[in-house]
This record gives sequence, structure tokens and C-alpha cells, in this order.
Amino acid sequence: MSDTPNLRIPGPTPVPPDILEAVAHPMVNHRGREFAALISRVAERLKDWFQTSNDVLILSASGTGGLESAVVSTLSPRDRVLSVSIGAFGERFAAIADTYGAEVIPLQYEWGQAARAEDVRQALAEHPDVKAVLVTHNETSTGVTNPLEEIARAIRSQESGVRSQAPSRASGRTDGPLVLVDAVSSLGAIPFEADGWGLDVVVTGSQKGWMVPPGLAFVSMSERAWRAYENAKMPRFYLDLGRHRDALPKGQTPWTPAMSIFFGLDVALERMAEEGAERIFTRHASMGRMVREGVKAFGLELLCQDERYASDTVTAIKCPEGVEVSALRNTMEDEYNVVIAGGQGKLQGKIFRIGHLGLVEEEDIRETLAALEQTLAKLGFAVRAAR
Ligand SMILES: *Cc1c(COP(=O)(O)O)cnc(C)c1O
Repeated sequence: MSDTPNLRIPGPTPVPPDILEAVAHPMVNHRGREFAALISRVAERLKDWFQTSNDVLILSASGTGGLESAVVSTLSPRDRVLSVSIGAFGERFAAIADTYGAEVIPLQYEWGQAARAEDVRQALAEHPDVKAVLVTHNETSTGVTNPLEEIARAIRSQESGVRSQAPSRASGRTDGPLVLVDAVSSLGAIPFEADGWGLDVVVTGSQKGWMVPPGLAFVSMSERAWRAYENAKMPRFYLDLGRHRDALPKGQTPWTPAMSIFFGLDVALERMAEEGAERIFTRHASMGRMVREGVKAFGLELLCQDERYASDTVTAIKCPEGVEVSALRNTMEDEYNVVIAGGQGKLQGKIFRIGHLGLVEEEDIRETLAALEQTLAKLGFAVRAAR
């Protein structure tokens, strides 16, 4: 299909024809038996991808709505939260907490770097009253994947010993800090373990690794997070996760859901189960490598200098001197039908990004790299003799 663009942005990602067809399913009663069976099926399957035994709640919202639900369902105004931020989405998570009156303690890194578990451990030692840590698994704006397992381990280790207060229900302090995770552009594409890594709230969005259109956010809550929910005082209504929890056993959502996306998700999860987690993770790892090796061969530089943390779902590339990001993107789109992303926030005009998550095969990357090579040459960049 030559008129369908090669959509190489980190979401919304391409939706395969069978899923597009499923999205066109006629409406049914959202409080009826057919839809109840559908919700139960997809919610159960999502648990495997989250690697959790807790419920996965499905909100009709984009990823940001999911992040907001995490904040308002676990925190109170004036709670202190540690924001571990390595880019634009880390800043957004912090801004949500700040908007609802949390006291945000920033732990910021230069954009392009990954966070270090040791820094998180130290920040928590300096601020023993931190209620929650906000952390991005895969920072889509910079193409960096944080060592989330290590970071979570550093946070969990604050529960015993380091914190002098003995846990007591009366003091309200029975648990260590909550770990609130933005896994919007990682879940379903790269290895992830909500329970195994000790994560409390995990959020992802339908338009990233799941091959379905935008419109749904998936959120899991640990038992510890539900305990926090009972005392959380931030205002909440539409994004109240307790209402979603209570509706789920009835096969419902508290409000009218974005049903069309549910129909697509049902097919997508079936497809993903057929491919299997191992193969999906391996495919993303290999796509990530292919993009990085390809652009480096042209003489380009990655924004993420330490490739141990380079993302396998999105790659951020420094735009070479003398080339305009907008001209590069427009030429690729107009002449090669390949759509790539620019930079966000302070990286606007400085980098461009190639998305490789969800529906992506070698052929898509080959085509993208070929278009990039020819476009760079056209715009006057001396492309190093490649491959
Ligand atoms: C896409 C994305 C989001 C959510 O963005 P929405 O536009 O609200 O879906 C949040 N965090 C990360 C890391 C993302 O990639």
C-alpha cells in the first residue's frame, strides 16, 4: 500500500488492517454482556504484559490521563514527591503532581542521559519523608531507557533500615515511597515486570506499543498503592482509579468507554499473544540496533551517548550542522512517504526521532534509512559511505 505512509514516529504507531477493521465494529451496549466479556478478556491479557497479579484498569484517556490518574489516586496536596526526570515526559509527570499541589523535589538529568539508581538512593536519604517517586521508564523525547529495575530496587531498599522511623499504622507511615512509573512508550515492546521490580502504579497508552489507535490508558496499582488511595486527598472524579476498580468485576468502566479502541485492542492482544513476548522483545531490540547502526554509519550522532541506555522503541538523533530538522522531515514525508518526529521542548530544531515500536519490521527500517540517506544528501550533508 504505497499511499499509507511509513509512520515512524513514537506514537501514534501504525495500526494493521485487521485491527483497523476491528475498530469499525458496530456499537454494542457498553453495560451489556458482550462488552463485559470483552473488557474481562483484555484486562486479563494486559496483566501478562504488565507482569502483575493486580488488576489492570482501562481508562478512556491518552497516556497523560493515565499519569494524572496515578497522581490523584495516590497522593495528597503537600505530599513530597521525588521527580526523576530525564526529558520532556519526566517534566510532564512532575508538572501534573505540581498542579495538584504536591511538593516536587526535582532530580534532573541532562537530556540524553539515563538516571542513576545511586542518585535516587541518595536523594531519598536526604528526603526521608518522600511519599512517592515519579519515574519514566522510556523517555520518548530523548530515546533513553532508564534502568528501572535498579532504580526501583534503590527505592524499595528505603523501606528497611535506612529509614529510622519504625513502621507504624498510627503514624500513617507503613510503607516506603511509592514508585509511580510512566511506561507509556515501553510496555508491550521491551521487557517489563511490574510486580517483580516492586512498582506501585504503572501507566501505558494504547497508541504506542499496542498497535491500536490513541484513546485508552492502562493502569495497574499495587496493594501498597491501594492503601495510599484510601488516604489520598487530591481532587479526583473522572480519573478516580477506585471507581474503575469497582466497575471492573461487573465488566464495566465507570464512564462510557472509547469502545472502538477496545474492539481493536482485543484483536491486537490476540496478535501479540500469537507472536509471544520473547519474540516481540527480540524484534524491538533488533529494530533498535538496526536504526542506531544505520544512522551512525551515515556519520550521524545519537543523543543518547551511553548506548547501554539507548531505547529500543525510539531513537533520537542529533541533526547535523547545516541541516534544518523541518526541511529534513518535510522532504522525507513529501518525497519518500516516511514520517519521522522532531524534537520536543528544548530539543526542538536540534534532533529528530525515529519511532520503532509496535508494528515494525526490518523492511520499515530499511526504507526509513534509505529515505534518510537520500534526504541528507539532498540537503547537502556529506553522508559517510554507508554499509
Ligand atoms: C506518549 C507518551 C506519553 C503520553 O502522551 P499522550 O499524548 O497523553 O498519550 C507519556 N509519556 C511518555 C513517555 C510517552 O511516550
